[in-house]
Amino acid sequence: MPYSYDDQNIFAKILRGEIPNDTVLETEHSLAFRDIQPQAPVHILVIPRGAYVNYDDFATNATDAEILDYTRAISKVCEIAGVDPDGFRMISNAGENGVQEVPHLHVHILGGRPLGRMLA
Ligand code: ADP
Repeated sequence: MPYSYDDQNIFAKILRGEIPNDTVLETEHSLAFRDIQPQAPVHILVIPRGAYVNYDDFATNATDAEILDYTRAISKVCEIAGVDPDGFRMISNAGENGVQEVPHLHVHILGGRPLGRMLA
């Protein structure tokens, strides 16, 4: 069963300013903030401001301006965090099998240490 968008999810609350966040970058259509339970020295989440449940929803339904903004925001965050020259990982979990906890599209950016292999 694909997830549906629930506007009570924690990232929707962050976007509405109801919950604080440790902001790294704000753009017109995107927000990046530090993960509350970091799995690496750098662990940042990048989310679109629009209500998209996962990457497929976003790629299918977002405007060109939102897609461009989000794509560039991810690169900019890598630059700001300083992970670009040494290497990093981008992950976006989707659905139950992907163990997606929050039903608002987010890309995890992980870096700052050797990450090892992860494909099962
Ligand atoms: P998973 O927990 O399996 O990684 P997701 O891909 O949905 O599932 O990731 C949700 C992420 O959101 C987790 O890494 C979690 O630590 C993070 N998180 C949850 N609440 C907050 C919050 N208030 N501020 C920042 N990050 C949060």
